[in-house]
Amino acid sequence: MTSDLLTDLRAVAREHADGLRSTALELDRDPSRAVTLLDRGLPWRQLIGLPAAYNPDPLRVRGRPVYLDSCAQQVVVLEELARADAGAVLALPGPSMSGFVVTELADGDQLDRYWRTVATGATWTFFGMTEPAHGSDPGSMGTTLRPTGEADGLLLTGVKRFVGNGARARIGVVFARRHAGPLGVVAVLVDTDRPGFTAVPLPTLGLRGLQLSELRMTEVPIAGADLLGRHRSATRQGMWAATRTFNRYRPVVSGLALGVAQAGYDLVVAARHRFRSDERHLLADWARRLTGTRALVLAAAHAADRDPGDGTLASAAKIRATRLAEEITTSAVRLLGPGARWEHPLLDKLVRDARAFEFMEGTGNIQRLNLAQGYLQGRLGDARVA
Ligand SMILES: Cc1cc2nc3c(=O)[nH]c(=O)nc-3n(C[C@H](O)[C@H](O)[C@H](O)COP(=O)(O)OP(=O)(O)OC[C@H]3O[C@@H](n4cnc5c(N)ncnc54)[C@H](O)[C@@H]3O)c2cc1C
Repeated sequence: MTSDLLTDLRAVAREHADGLRSTALELDRDPSRAVTLLDRGLPWRQLIGLPAAYNPDPLRVRGRPVYLDSCAQQVVVLEELARADAGAVLALPGPSMSGFVVTELADGDQLDRYWRTVATGATWTFFGMTEPAHGSDPGSMGTTLRPTGEADGLLLTGVKRFVGNGARARIGVVFARRHAGPLGVVAVLVDTDRPGFTAVPLPTLGLRGLQLSELRMTEVPIAGADLLGRHRSATRQGMWAATRTFNRYRPVVSGLALGVAQAGYDLVVAARHRFRSDERHLLADWARRLTGTRALVLAAAHAADRDPGDGTLASAAKIRATRLAEEITTSAVRLLGPGARWEHPLLDKLVRDARAFEFMEGTGNIQRLNLAQGYLQGRLGDARVA
């Protein structure tokens, strides 16, 4: 897609974002409202990235159908929507992260099963990696997939925590250990109505619309047909796909964080009319950094579209966007004076939402390690990351 079309796509997304702004506090108070908010005019089905074969009525830009099937298109649209409410963007039904894993690993039947389910009604999905005792470190993953002793039957047992949309999902991807060692982690497609599967929402402060959940799986029956990537070599299965998914989703998370940063800036400029000269300098600095970060996020998205195996720029974008969101929202509280979080409930929400991005998709320290490794291996090419 050319940059002109991306500019037009951004304008279309901006028009749709207004609807989300009016429901932001309602969803923040009660994340279970995500279902009812879908009836408030947002053409969400056109914005969640359904593939052409399952999407008879796509978004149109300059008369051309747009399926939001590239990272570049997603970051442009989702940043604009997040400028209204990042929690609502993450609360939308659709493929989200699990769609990337399925696209990487699934065979024809699995692809059809997954997309048919996701395209029917309002269907949420989940991506289950993080565990209460082991975090998102695959090396010590405790969730297991053990043979039942009958044909290709398997049993899935374990707990996943901090899983977005888990409690309202109908289908999702769970990462589990089938054998010891780095190649022993596999991805399985799980329907949430299977016996032994339960999911409960967790109490949270930031991005509450996402309804982070805990998944508990006790001997959930898994068939060979649920194993993603079983037709591939052991080096092209679970963790290979997870890494590529992180590399593709980090620019999206960066775009969401950037939307929150921009919303904080917009709120300050709208709420105060006079600024001291040092404050004017601060606002000018923010405006420059918002523009620079937007360029970096888009560059990271293009890089992920070219090669999802390389997450160097994605990590750089996530560091930048997350830091900017935290800095602008917390400084906005100071600029708007005592009581700012009471007087501006939307700002209170932005401060809480901004903090959640630090952990989502790996903390800043992990991104710095990725970035350093990429730099040492010469993967930054011509990109300039100051
Ligand atoms: C809003 C939100 C949505 C989420 N959605 C999902 C989801 O859908 N599915 C899912 O599975 N998980 C999800 N998570 C969980 C998230 O992916 C993990 O919490 C995140 O990756 C951090 O991993 P961890 O908990 O293992 O922490 P760790 O990576 O262990 O980090 C703990 C602390 O140690 C530091 N640290 C770790 N390693 C190093 C190192 N080598 N050097 C220096 N410091 C280090 C970190 O910076 C951090 O301060 C979500 C989390 C949030 C907040």
